[in-house]
Parts: sequence; structure tokens; C-alpha cells
Amino acid sequence: MSLFENTLKQIRNASTLMKLDEDIEIILSNPQRIVQVSLPVRMDDGKLKIFQGFRVQHNNYAGPHKGGIRYHSQVDMGEVKALAAWMTIKCSVVGIPLGGGKGGIVVNPKELSEDELERLTRKYVQMIAPVIGPKIDVPAPDVNTNGKIMAWIADEYSQIVGEECPGVVTGKPLEAGGIEGRSTATAQGGVYVLEELMNDMGLKREDTKVIVQGYGNAGGVAANLLADLGYKVVGASDSQGGLFCNYGINPQELHSCKIEKNTVKNCGLHMTEIHGMDGASCKKVSNDEILEEECDVLVLAALENQITASNASRIKAKIIIELANGPTSPEADEILKSKGITVVPDILANAGGVTVSYFEMLQNESGKKWTAVEVDEKLKEIMTIAWHEVKLNAETYKSTLREAAFITAIARLEAKIMEKGEL
Ligand code: NAD
Repeated sequence: MSLFENTLKQIRNASTLMKLDEDIEIILSNPQRIVQVSLPVRMDDGKLKIFQGFRVQHNNYAGPHKGGIRYHSQVDMGEVKALAAWMTIKCSVVGIPLGGGKGGIVVNPKELSEDELERLTRKYVQMIAPVIGPKIDVPAPDVNTNGKIMAWIADEYSQIVGEECPGVVTGKPLEAGGIEGRSTATAQGGVYVLEELMNDMGLKREDTKVIVQGYGNAGGVAANLLADLGYKVVGASDSQGGLFCNYGINPQELHSCKIEKNTVKNCGLHMTEIHGMDGASCKKVSNDEILEEECDVLVLAALENQITASNASRIKAKIIIELANGPTSPEADEILKSKGITVVPDILANAGGVTVSYFEMLQNESGKKWTAVEVDEKLKEIMTIAWHEVKLNAETYKSTLREAAFITAIARLEAKIMEKGEL
């Protein structure tokens, strides 16, 4: 099943449970606009290379399209369509007035020089400029894109429209109109939800072992936040492999070591030395193995389709937090449900990122700076309310949290669609 088919299945499951009007399901199952662009870029060696880019605008009944731009060699239209649809649903789960969109370029940015990356980014903006804008579609960072790339996008778009327009993207550096707390928002939002769930399940942080798959922006920050709260982070992985340490991992030390040694799996000795105790050990594990190691909470923060029908039955965690988009396939969901594993779905667990992006949009619009404390308080409030709404729907519909999150979102979207008198 393709990623977009997974998304459609999730929409269908929720629609069936909530007895949704078929017309609403049809609207939500089809993106409003799909843009595919060819991007000619002059490389440093003088040769011209063509890259493929996409922007999908899934739905804007609740507000302007919103969603990141991914630079990855495996980006394709199906993936971007799925990610765009999840953005619509995600914004609605947390009740912010934004719709869904997503973009991507087929490229491995690590193979490009900084100048080439900038030229590619600016070319992409030139090609999609007619369909983006602060009130139309507001991109943001995703895998392999960052604040610097967002600043290039804002600058190029401002040149095209002939006025300063920082509000065309979010996730900008602070000095370019960004907001405090955006880089930690996705993980922080997930942690707020996990804390509520832990409380409900009567679990104690100090007894809770955590594995983080994907030690990047979202996963690395999550490991830090959880360790600071007293959780025991015992495993971590990145694209090159993983590390499992029985006495725990110090996430900050791991972060510094990863920068020095390029990948977490080379940091085992370093981690063992930090503990300096008899019996402290770390083992290198593969990307597949780390998911199946002993732990209480498994944080998925890499890419989609990590837990599938082929490995779901071997997952030992009690709780899965999906900071990544689409890491669990619908078939895996069924297996995890039968094993009694609680999955906090992506559309809730990682919604903190777009929530703080929305704050950035408000900040850019009003010209008033939000403090880090204001951002955090408001983020916590929104994530906590969303959690309670989803939990209530899970109880009402006797459903999984994913189904309940879709029901929460779709009910709000249905009201918006009806309000606009479309049907
Ligand atoms: P990132 O590029 O900073 O980090 C991704 C990490 O995953 C990297 O460390 C990479 O090495 C690792 N990885 C890749 N394949 C792996 C594999 N098979 N096993 C283990 N690790 C692997 O990206 P990010 O911004 O942290 O995003 C990660 C996920 O979170 C994506 O699905 C993204 O869409 C989602 N997300 C991110 C944000 C955000 O604000 N950063 C917001 C919402 C959702």
C-alpha cells in the first residue's frame, strides 16, 4: 500500500466510525491542488542539472495551507500528498485555523554545496511563488530543511512580490522573523501529550525506559527533554544505525559525540565511559533491531513506514509516540492494538511544530514578539486540550487514539465545510 493509500485508509476508518457524510470523506480524500515543477540549477562545475519539486495543497477550509518542505532523494508525489493530507488533519486536531499542504524536492542535500542548495531553493520558490503567500500557503522546514533555507525562501519571495514578506514561511531564524521555541516545539508538544498519558496510566518517569528512533531535530530534542524530566533514555538511532545502552544514555553527550563521530552508533564507548560503572555497556544495533529492543516508550522520529506488518508483532514498548509522520502502517496499527500497545498518533504527537509555526504567523502579522514563556504556555495549553478531546473521542467511539484523533479533526473540518455552504 502506498503512503497516500495509508492516509486514505485512515480517513476511511474514522469516517466509518463516525458515520461521516460521504461527500465530506470525498473532499478530504482529494487534494485541492497539485503542483509539480522542474528546477534547472547551475551546479558549481558549470553543468546544468534538473531537479523535480512538488507542492501539494490538500485543503484550506480551515485556513491557509500549511506544511513543510522536504529535501530527500526518495521524495515522490505520493509521499507529498500523504504528508499534505496529514497536515490538514493535524491542524484540525489541535484546532488551529490552518489547512494542509506539503512540498518536497527530490535531492540529497548532503551532495550539494551551500551555493548549489541556495540556488535550488530560490529556483523552487520562483516556480511555486504564484501559489504560495502568507494568506494562501505557508511552507516550513521538514526533513533536511532548516531555518537558513526558510530565510532564503522568505528573501526570494520578498524579491518576487517587491516587499518584505517574512510571513510567507515559518521556521525562520529569530533574526529573520522567527519565533522562540520553534526548534523544540515538535518534541515539546509530544512530551506534553506523553506526560498526560503517563499520568493516566499511572507510570513513573524514573521507571520508564525510552528508545528514540531518529536522532535529528525532533528526536534529539525529545531525548533531551525526556532525560531532563527523569525518563531513562536507553537507545537511540539515526540513518546509519543505533545504540542501546543498559545504564542509559546522556542525550546531550550523545548529541556532541554524534557531531564529532558523525553517527550515534559510534558513540557507545563514550556513553559507557560516562557511566563509569561496572556492568554499564552499550551495544551497536541495526535500524531494525533498535525498534525491537526492550523499552517502555518508543519515540519514532525518523521517517514513514517504520513499524509495519513485518515487525509490529516484535515491538516490546508499551507506548509509541509518533513524532515522525506516518511511521506506522495501518496493518501494523492493527497488530499493535491487539498487543495492547498505545500509539500516540503523529497527527497529535507532532502537532506542536505546526502549532508554534502558527504562533510565528501571528507574530509576523502583528509585529509583536512572543516570549519563550508565552510560546511554551500556549503550546502546552493547546496540546493538553487536544489530548483530552482525542481521549474523550477514543472513549466515546471505543477506538484507538489514531481513529479518535481523525474523528476529532474531521468533525471540526466537516463543520467548516458546511459553514462555507459547499454542500
Ligand atoms: P531530521 O532530518 O532532523 O531527523 C531525522 C533523523 O532520522 C536523522 O537523524 C536521520 O539520520 C534519522 N533516520 C533516517 N532514517 C532512519 C532510520 N531508518 N532509522 C533511524 N533513524 C533514521 O528530521 P526531523 O525534522 O527531526 O523530522 C523527523 C520526522 O519528524 C519526519 O517524519 C518529519 O516529517 C517529522 N516532523 C518533524 C517536525 C519538525 O518540526 N522537525 C514537525 C512535525 C513532524
